[in-house]
Amino acid sequence: MSYDIYGNPLRRGHCEVHPHVHEEYPCSICIQENNNINAIMELEYVLELSQQRIAELERCNNELTATVERLRDAIDVALDQHKRDGAMSASVAYDLEMLLCS
Ligand SMILES: [Zn+2]
Repeated sequence: MSYDIYGNPLRRGHCEVHPHVHEEYPCSICIQENNNINAIMELEYVLELSQQRIAELERCNNELTATVERLRDAIDVALDQHKRDGAMSASVAYDLEMLLCS
């Protein structure tokens, strides 16, 4: 005699996981549950990839924000110097060029 997963006698032609279903294992409910599990695993994988990409973009955004801040500071220095001296010093011009090329 066969038994279902609950230890009860299994009727012929019934699913051992879903003994109320008159289909052999794996029954249509088994297949549907398996499809749901696969869909959830796939969604979890996509979610993890999305979270990794978001973290990557946040790091990139932080680097760009920091570069913009450094550029603003350097431009302020250059403008002050230009107002005061009528020209930009070679070191300030170099700093600006380095920031623009980074
Ligand atoms: Zn089943």
